[in-house]
Amino acid sequence: MPPRRITFSRNVFLPLTTVCRNRCAYCGFRRPVGPGCLMHPGEVAAVLDEGVRTGCTEALFTFGERPEEVPGFAAELEAVGEKSFLDYCRRLCLDAIACGLLPHTNAGVLDEPELASLAEVNASMGLMLETTARVKAHEGSPGKDPEARIATIEAAGRLRIPFTTGLLLGIGETAADRLESLETIAGLHRRYGHIQEVILQNFAPQEGTGMAGAPTIPAAEYCATVRLAREVLPREVAVQVPPNLADATTLVACGADDLGGVSPCSIDHINPDHPWPAVDALRQSLGPDVELVERLCIHPRYVERGWYPTTLAPLVRRLSERLREQQL
Ligand code: SF4
Repeated sequence: MPPRRITFSRNVFLPLTTVCRNRCAYCGFRRPVGPGCLMHPGEVAAVLDEGVRTGCTEALFTFGERPEEVPGFAAELEAVGEKSFLDYCRRLCLDAIACGLLPHTNAGVLDEPELASLAEVNASMGLMLETTARVKAHEGSPGKDPEARIATIEAAGRLRIPFTTGLLLGIGETAADRLESLETIAGLHRRYGHIQEVILQNFAPQEGTGMAGAPTIPAAEYCATVRLAREVLPREVAVQVPPNLADATTLVACGADDLGGVSPCSIDHINPDHPWPAVDALRQSLGPDVELVERLCIHPRYVERGWYPTTLAPLVRRLSERLREQQL
């Protein structure tokens, strides 16, 4: 039997701002407005350069949701010559493209015109559904309203944006909630065909947060959720697990197909205590029955369908060709 192909993307992580309007009880990422809360263009350029130097193909822009709703943030934006944070993000996506990296932006809840504007400079985008349940951990977070999240994912489908979503496991949801969340995502994909992958991310407690002492999902339950996802989701939608937070070898054996972004040069700024394993170490631990294959942040079927903006066409073609040659 040929080995199973498991995919990953080599990326750099750019946490553009730690300012966020939400107050999730498990969050160790959010910071108040103040020095260092917004990455400046020079800092972004240094990370992009390092990404290019270490062979990355993806610039992952992840940041707090709607930071402009937080008092004082406008002055931070003014310092970089911008009035709108999404305009600033667009500008930095163009910088990434100029360096030869494909932007993938996780911007939180957006309306359709906002998504359309970012889609012009992104190869793919993402928003975790997290859960369809209303959990206590999200009581201070208007952006975690499941209906608002579903509306954003649906708008991305109408706009034909190759999209990543997922579940955060262990934040107070039940097994029935997980099933409902997966069925919701499967339904959105059947309708719009835009879901590339569904991350099953285990909540990892962080010191100084409201859920610092909360238990994580037991290993057996995590495995069962991966199996459930593989049953519920259409086959073409990858089930993704994070190799810096979980035992990827076990979860791949349970049916996971993808390891998401693995960075050779930047940390996971959401879970800074959990370094990514080196790709060679991952390959070894997955064993001889698994072939670990690099992919772009836009999956091949969306490249074939032309679901990317014309701005990105030369780069998508060039990087697709580069990976093809590497894998010959
Ligand atoms: S939305 Fe993200 S950044 Fe904002 S508080 Fe929640 S987990 Fe933290």
